[in-house]
Amino acid sequence: MDILVIGGGGREHAIVWALKKSPKAGKIYCAPGNAGIGQLAECVPIPVSEFDALIELAESKKVGLVVVGPDDPLADGIVDAFEAKGIPVFGPRKNAAEIEGSKIFMKDLLHKYHIPTATYRKFYSYDEAHAYLKEQPIPVVIKADGLAAGKGVTVAYSMEEAEKALSDIMVAKVFGEAGAQVVIEEFLAGQEMSILSFVDGETVRPMAAAQDHKPVFDGDKGPNTGGMGTYSPLPHIANSIIEEAIETIIKPTAKAMVAEGRPFRGVLFAGLMISPDGKPKTIEFNARFGDPETQVVLPRLKSDLLDIFLAAVNGTLDQVEIEWKDEAAVCVVLASGGYPAAYAKGIPIHGLDQADEAIVFHAGTGINEQGEWVTNGGRVLGVVGLGRDIAEARDQAYEQAARITFEGKHNRTDIAAKALL
Ligand code: AMP
Repeated sequence: MDILVIGGGGREHAIVWALKKSPKAGKIYCAPGNAGIGQLAECVPIPVSEFDALIELAESKKVGLVVVGPDDPLADGIVDAFEAKGIPVFGPRKNAAEIEGSKIFMKDLLHKYHIPTATYRKFYSYDEAHAYLKEQPIPVVIKADGLAAGKGVTVAYSMEEAEKALSDIMVAKVFGEAGAQVVIEEFLAGQEMSILSFVDGETVRPMAAAQDHKPVFDGDKGPNTGGMGTYSPLPHIANSIIEEAIETIIKPTAKAMVAEGRPFRGVLFAGLMISPDGKPKTIEFNARFGDPETQVVLPRLKSDLLDIFLAAVNGTLDQVEIEWKDEAAVCVVLASGGYPAAYAKGIPIHGLDQADEAIVFHAGTGINEQGEWVTNGGRVLGVVGLGRDIAEARDQAYEQAARITFEGKHNRTDIAAKALL
């Protein structure tokens, strides 16, 4: 079966890499893909927002399955568009992707179905939001309602910071329409973890748990990024807590979506906070694979990813085999100097062929006119080490990451350190 994967980051490289291992997978196309993905799939330079051109590609290549990676096209209804043409597609419809696309929708849903999350209020007017904010204890969390490229959330540690975040969203409108409404939310202290699940209506098949590192510098310092590294599993978090999160948050949410007439089909990504007394609460839901969580989760998958996608599309997810390896995985992101602010592109990358004991997923790379690998994004590469435990996987990831060099290269040196304490 030929397959079209939509997207062009490290997440899509990991999806293509895992699909490629399926004996049933034929040719894989990726739109737009990237230079690294180009080694495994035929990349077609169509932006993820051009639904008509993507449908034309899927029809002309007669693909048997489309897999959608990123959030924006899902929120804009790309799955509905493929389904309208009778093309099998893995991902949630627009009305289900709203669980990520609107924080107000998500919070109201959880509230209605008594699913644990931080207490909150929603606001449509700046004056009312501001009056409420002034009464809140610090820290406090301010969230733009819509998709804001991962930048719409401020955890404010002073009232000045909170007021600035609110006025940036509602007065200066830095996120445009995504900030027409806001959520002001209780601050939750504790440990964060992510659980990704394959979901098909009420059937929830959890994947291995993972943890991301958002801030750009060691010790969680500096501005937030798309993610500087991940690891899986989480040896410092008890299985009973993971089980509780699945039973009290993820399964009830899938059920609630069905009850609302918005059955979720795809990857439901739960961002959770575990309180110091071990109780999980919901921070967010995403309607897709995480990036870079996918880069540590899929290398641990023993079963056939294509079988799982097809089962979800056919409504038989409850019957498919989903097994995980005991191995641990650690992903270290190599970023361009300056990221997440301005950075240069087109800088030659050396040593890619020497990191042969790791899996190297490309996020932002290109090939220049001289045929050399060059940087082409903020996050450039994700180097994944595997091992018997986190310590071994981490040593391997860092050893291999050190072999890859480019001017301005930056990576955190403390990925997975928390798991080893
Ligand atoms: P989100 O985009 O909703 O995942 O938020 C981004 C990050 O902000 C999360 O990964 C958390 O680190 C933090 N965050 C969001 N909501 C809260 C909350 N209620 N309490 C504490 N931290 C939060």
